[in-house]
Amino acid sequence: MTATAPREEQLWSRCAGCASLLYRKRLRRNLDVCPECGEHARLGAPERLRQIVDPGSLRLLPDQLPEADPIDFVDVLPYPHRLSAARASTGLSEAVVCATATIGGHPAALAVMDFRFLGGSLGCAVGELITRAAERALDDRIPLILVTASGGARMQEGVLSLMQMATVSQAIAALREAGLLTVSVLTDPTYGGVAASFATNTDLVLAESGARMGFAGPRVIRQVTGRALPEGFQTADVLLRHGQVDMVVQRRSLRPRLAALLAATRATRASRPPVPRQEPAPRRERLADAGATPARPADPTAVGAAPTTPAVRDAWDTVRMARHPGRPTTLDYLDSVFDGFLELHGDRLGADCPAIVGGVARLADRHVMVIGHQKGHTTAELVARNFGMASPAGHRKALRLMRLAARLGLPVVTLVDTPGADPGVSAEEQGQAAAIAENILTLTVLPTPVLAVITGEGGSGGALALAVADRVLMLENAVYSVISPEGCAAILWPDRSAAPQAARALRLTAPDLYRLGVVDEVVPEPCGAAHDDPAETARRLRAALLTNLLPLLDVPPAMLVRLRRQRFRRFGTTRAGARAGAR
Ligand SMILES: [Zn+2]
Repeated sequence: MTATAPREEQLWSRCAGCASLLYRKRLRRNLDVCPECGEHARLGAPERLRQIVDPGSLRLLPDQLPEADPIDFVDVLPYPHRLSAARASTGLSEAVVCATATIGGHPAALAVMDFRFLGGSLGCAVGELITRAAERALDDRIPLILVTASGGARMQEGVLSLMQMATVSQAIAALREAGLLTVSVLTDPTYGGVAASFATNTDLVLAESGARMGFAGPRVIRQVTGRALPEGFQTADVLLRHGQVDMVVQRRSLRPRLAALLAATRATRASRPPVPRQEPAPRRERLADAGATPARPADPTAVGAAPTTPAVRDAWDTVRMARHPGRPTTLDYLDSVFDGFLELHGDRLGADCPAIVGGVARLADRHVMVIGHQKGHTTAELVARNFGMASPAGHRKALRLMRLAARLGLPVVTLVDTPGADPGVSAEEQGQAAAIAENILTLTVLPTPVLAVITGEGGSGGALALAVADRVLMLENAVYSVISPEGCAAILWPDRSAAPQAARALRLTAPDLYRLGVVDEVVPEPCGAAHDDPAETARRLRAALLTNLLPLLDVPPAMLVRLRRQRFRRFGTTRAGARAGAR
């Protein structure tokens, strides 16, 4: 390269990933992502904003604050000199640029950090500017998007910079209380006090491909532990596996992905009626007399219902049907019944359970949060998904998504298909019982409509952890039971071969549970069963979901919760009533 003239040097740039020499204009056209190896080069805040907001929509927020050197800090240079140098080299007044803009037509407030400015460090001014951006979001009732790039708190401002973690977090909390979406986009690198506050305490955490995020940096960890770090430590893909981020996004997908997430939360808010209407009667008469009519046919009003009553099938045959490997899974339904599914990952504690999938999706033109157990069709898929048996991390992911849905006013649709919760040793050690218990409790008071569908196996507490709902639907050949027939047979019969008898005794089929009032509607399956005609099954399920969901959207949250409590309370009172009547 010695022959290259200095001017020409600036036209080229060397990739930090693969060392390829790249034409700068070409690199910029490719959003500063190496076309050879996919390395995402760091972006300054102005370029980042240009890439993610709609052209012409950017309105910068004021960034002039009184000069601050709160502790008169001096190392080899006085702090004010370092500030001046950073300003001169970046053209920015601080390490964050705040603005309002639209993304895919959806308005948002943005705060974008710039690592070039003193390592993107969080000082008093940065904290103040981000807090003001959050307050602007609150005033305008728009979402807040934070793009982080930081080494952590700014040493030169001492403990006052530490306080900014609390200040910004308070502003995030206010948005959370107001039901406004907060999103952070982790870019490389995001560490220390920024990682331990607003980079991770937002509703959604996206990580740009290749970004690293952590509390302590790798050098510190190596020094403290004296050990080599695992491959990919603290990088986006590993963070995803460990439940720390909702999704990893390629730079070119960032704008459309943000637009889709903003759309998902805005449309629902707008569709919510502001004034409570009169209390509808979601089959309350049925609640009152459940159990009084012993043989009730499948609900004739079920949309898409075959006019005939379901064929009477032996309970054990139904169990086998419910477990059929060809039966549509939650991901199949997300593809066929819903549109635009955006999967959200992780429990934010340490894992992302593959047996539970969840995220935002559209049902007709409504945005909903869908959470379901995921099995699979092949042995490899089943093993990868732990046969649909959720770990505590899976239940905590579901819990996180339920709470997020409630905050954002999204209805929750759950698809239940599990043999039961994961019964393993590590599941016990991580608090499986408490994780299920917390989900059940949270669902009983969740201030948003909840619609549950037992699509395959409704196995015990693991099923109920997703099935405390305003309306519970059940596919015709699904089963729902306190214990598997095999488990029941092993305990109450001489041996497990009595499973078919146990299946009959447990009253676990859809018609049985409809008669007991546990299930509000049976969704008929096509001739044969769901796996014989998945498309028709999806059509019927979609129709049933819409029929049951739309009336719930008009019910004020407090009334929903009251009715949901009554719905489950009657399972005690009905039996008491029956006993009283027998006296
Ligand atoms: Zn490269």
